[in-house]
Amino acid sequence: MTLAGRHELPGARRLVVKVGSSSISGDGAHRIAPLVDALATAHARGTEVVLVSSGAIATGMPYLALDERPTDLATQQAAAAVGQNVLIYRYQEALRQYAIVAGQVLLTAGDLENPTHRSNARRAMERLLGLRILPIVNENDTVATHEIRFGDNDRLAALVAQLIGADALVLLSDIESLYTRPPGEPGARPIRDVAHGDDLSGYEFGSVVVNSVGTGGAATKASAAKLAADAGVGVLVTSADLVSDALDGADVGTWFAPNPAPAPSGFTGAVRTGVAH
Ligand code: GLU
Repeated sequence: MTLAGRHELPGARRLVVKVGSSSISGDGAHRIAPLVDALATAHARGTEVVLVSSGAIATGMPYLALDERPTDLATQQAAAAVGQNVLIYRYQEALRQYAIVAGQVLLTAGDLENPTHRSNARRAMERLLGLRILPIVNENDTVATHEIRFGDNDRLAALVAQLIGADALVLLSDIESLYTRPPGEPGARPIRDVAHGDDLSGYEFGSVVVNSVGTGGAATKASAAKLAADAGVGVLVTSADLVSDALDGADVGTWFAPNPAPAPSGFTGAVRTGVAH
């Protein structure tokens, strides 16, 4: 179905929610419980929910006695390998009270451009959803590093939403909405709605942010949102603290209206960004 606006999110048939590293690891770990509460509420309404969660590296850091995000890729991958299972454990613990079972799905952009892998991934996700299991997706960091380097899973979430024909994608971060310029700069205004076909080139989203826990920022969110919206998926960009309001259809965040007539193949995204893996 094509959603007419953010107020229709409670009626979504299939929903992808993406949360970034800083929102749910380290000092943000307390947000796992309210996030899971909101997902469980949507699940109870009958919505099929997929969570795309980063945070493997950040969650793994203390187990490797690291105070800061490692700078070399191999150690980032090692931290991700350790942190991923702790992260899934935390989600499963929070989901238990709702009798919801989580299923871990690790994917790469390359998987999504290989026709066999792509249809395998789609079939597995369909079955998980049919079984009322909550798939929790992350990049498979031991074999791919695109999201570590560029997007903290924003792009992966857009590709997953497209792959499974979701009605909507909710990209959660630490700001309430996208802004016309970096928030805090003079003249920065929140962007409430982006119509299909709107030109975003007049806005300044800044460059990809790499902070102590994750990567990403407004630029990767805007480009992932556009990718999904062009494929017919409505996208809401808002803060993790507002997830419950957002899934209830409140007037929060930046809404990217879906393309009403997306390409029929159902998978139009250029999977790679031309950067060597
Ligand atoms: N897949 C990575 C993770 O879960 C991506 C996020 C990042 O850049 O930290 O940690």
